[in-house]
Amino acid sequence: MRELENLLLSALEEEGPLVFLTGAGISAESGIPTFRGKEGFWTVGSKVYQPQEMATFAMFRAHPEEVWKWYVMRREMCLDAEPNPAHQALVKIEKRWGNRFRLITQNVDGLHIRAGNSPERTWRIHGDINFVRCVASCIPEVLPIPENTDDMHCRKCGDWLRPHVLWFDECYNEEWYRYESSIAAASESALLVVIGTSGATNLPMQVGMQVAERGACLIDINPEPNPFSELAQRCEKGTAISGKASESLPRIAEIILRS
Ligand code: NAD
Ligand code: ZN
Repeated sequence: MRELENLLLSALEEEGPLVFLTGAGISAESGIPTFRGKEGFWTVGSKVYQPQEMATFAMFRAHPEEVWKWYVMRREMCLDAEPNPAHQALVKIEKRWGNRFRLITQNVDGLHIRAGNSPERTWRIHGDINFVRCVASCIPEVLPIPENTDDMHCRKCGDWLRPHVLWFDECYNEEWYRYESSIAAASESALLVVIGTSGATNLPMQVGMQVAERGACLIDINPEPNPFSELAQRCEKGTAISGKASESLPRIAEIILRS
């Protein structure tokens, strides 16, 4: 506890953004399954698919109706869930630190925004399940998901609307997923706190590795060992907290709010 407090207080004295990077683990305690659990499996015809196969553009092209059914089911799960004390801790930290605060989230569930973090500072690097866009990009805008999800076609060009999420066979960009902004935040951060992510995706690993290489403060919160906990343990200004987000993040917020 003392070590954590010292690390946080000295990071706050330095210049640079305070970056929080969240993964599915922060929403697990709100009842939204991570991709490591078996809840995400989906049957199309006689074949059972894993989330990593469902969440692809290739699958959408082959079976758009089935992919939409899977997303509508997942979105209902997200709407039924409530933000937990870990989400609320991040709202308090943003209120305290304003412009210095950055939230990079892999979660598409919308819980950070519903908890009260600002859309401008919540970089949803894998998109948001509550939004859609035209698959043909006839209009560049990202739109709120229609109330009636029975007909998911673009009103303008008639092609499919697609979930506004980054699929496993697609690339990050700045316009939709804040790629460059996230890399820039990692290159100047005073603090990176990684919460509930397994490190299986590309941009979060780049962010973690860049912060570790710079020797900036790096803290990981996760009940399981993972690539970020290994990085944090190797850093002089790092620590890995083996615990749940809903318990550890409020403790971190308390220290940050006292400063
Ligand atoms: P992941 O499913 O790969 O890993 C989740 C991590 O959370 C694991 O390391 C696990 O040990 C940890 N964890 C579990 N319970 C925790 C708790 N109570 N507190 C802290 N940590 C806990 O998730 P990921 O790394 O985010 O990546 C999977 C991909 O799936 C991402 O692309 C993400 O967009 C997507 N996804 C999103 C959601 C969501 O929006 N809530 C849910 C599932 C998957
Ligand atoms: Zn269109």
